[in-house]
Order: sequence, then structure tokens, then C-alpha cells
Amino acid sequence: MKYENICKHFSDNIINSESYESSKPVRNTELLLPEFYNILIYCFNEYRKKYPNQNVYITETYRSNVLQQKYFKTGKSKIRNNGMHHFGIAADVAFLINDKLSYKGDYNFLRRVFKENNLTVLDWELGHVQFIPVPEQNTLRREINSYINE
Ligand SMILES: [Zn+2]
Repeated sequence: MKYENICKHFSDNIINSESYESSKPVRNTELLLPEFYNILIYCFNEYRKKYPNQNVYITETYRSNVLQQKYFKTGKSKIRNNGMHHFGIAADVAFLINDKLSYKGDYNFLRRVFKENNLTVLDWELGHVQFIPVPEQNTLRREINSYINE
């Protein structure tokens, strides 16, 4: 099994979470895979070295399938369910500039830092970052499926 750590995180921390079926966006970073979150923190610090007056702000971590389907229907996402947010290995980020939420930070620089640290960004979603490459997603979904049905 290639992604046993992610399967275990999903099974131990996400399925039992009170946010599991939340229809509202979730920002709880405890639902992120810890090794993914650690890399994010490192990248955010790199960003702050260049832009000391800004912070990177996580707008969404875990996402329930209920909310994912809502996003799909309204065109906010291309995925109907079991997106990478659902497994705690994706985050959406924006910025805090003068303590205000902003989308006008330097996404190009931040995305470059993400890539340099082996994270995956999407061409079609500026603020999205995830732990595994897109072509690996179905492998992960299969592994999680068999892991939780064991
Ligand atoms: Zn996203």
C-alpha cells in the first residue's frame, strides 16, 4: 500500500470527526495530514521571508462530500466527491494583508515554493495545494476504499 499513512489519517481522524458531514467550509488544520501541514507551514514561512507584512491564510482544509457536491453544482469545483480535501491532503489558501483577507498576495511565488517542496498545485485553481500529484488520486481513492472496508 503506497498511501497507508493517508488511509490511517482518514480512518482515525477524519471519519470520526464532528466535521465529517459538515455542510459548511472547515478550516480546522487538525484534519490535515500532519506531514502535509508541516510542509505547508514551512512554505508559509518562506513566503513571509519575502513578504514580512503578509500572512498566508488557509480558507479551507477538510471538505465533506455534501459540501463538495454543492461546489460541483455551482461550478466552484470540477469534482463531484472524494476530492483531495476530503482526505485531509488539500488546502485552499489566500492571504492576510493588513489583517484583512485578500486574494491579492503573490500566488505565483507561493505556488513556486509549494512546487519546490514537492506539493502539487492546479492550473485551474489558484489557491489550491495538495499533497499528492493528480495522476495518483485514483490510486489513493482505491487504497482508502479497501482500507476502510477491511
Ligand atoms: Zn481546493
